[in-house]
Amino acid sequence: MNQPLIVFDMDGVLVDVTESYRETIAQTVKHFTGVDLTREQIQDYKNQGGWNDDWELTHHLIKVAGKEIPFETARDYFQSIFLGNGEGGLILREEWVARPGMLEELNRQFQFAVFTGRPKAEAELTLNRFAGGVVFHPVVGMYEVENRKPHPEGLLRILNANPGRKVYYIGDTVDDARCARAAGVPFIGIAAPSNPRYLDLVFLFQEEGASAIIDDINVLTEVFAS
Ligand SMILES: [Mg+2]
Repeated sequence: MNQPLIVFDMDGVLVDVTESYRETIAQTVKHFTGVDLTREQIQDYKNQGGWNDDWELTHHLIKVAGKEIPFETARDYFQSIFLGNGEGGLILREEWVARPGMLEELNRQFQFAVFTGRPKAEAELTLNRFAGGVVFHPVVGMYEVENRKPHPEGLLRILNANPGRKVYYIGDTVDDARCARAAGVPFIGIAAPSNPRYLDLVFLFQEEGASAIIDDINVLTEVFAS
């Protein structure tokens, strides 16, 4: 029997990145412009769609704050904070969302894959750190596709490699929802009640035809049982 396949977005889904990626965006913008960004402002951009790439978003936010710097300069500073310079970077602040045993249990009925806007190597770093032997295959990252989310290329590739298999996509942004819709894959939206734009996000997911909207992945077993 072909087990159904759950494709996970990574940030905000498998991993809580409020203190890692979102904080890195804020610190990088602060470094170049002196401007203190709120989490609400960052989330507003995410809700607009088209800002899935945190390097591009950071570069844009620096420009909006009145500083013109090369993209690479913004990206390199971002990476130095995120990965650290020999010291622990903010990547170490990310938290694995799944409670112990939850993914193992779900994995009896479903196979897992990842489609993320992260570079694949960074995604695998985190999976190796937290996933404890649970297999995600394939892991499709930013350099494995020519067209990034919300373009469905990454999802379509996973679909084509799994003919006849039921596929679901789980994400936390409107770009993820649009990506799933364009690929014809049912979408499960993660809207954390702690999200500074929680209701906006819920409405956006509804507009994109989400099959379910949940607080976090720990209730997935119940979603699939109903
Ligand atoms: Mg995400």
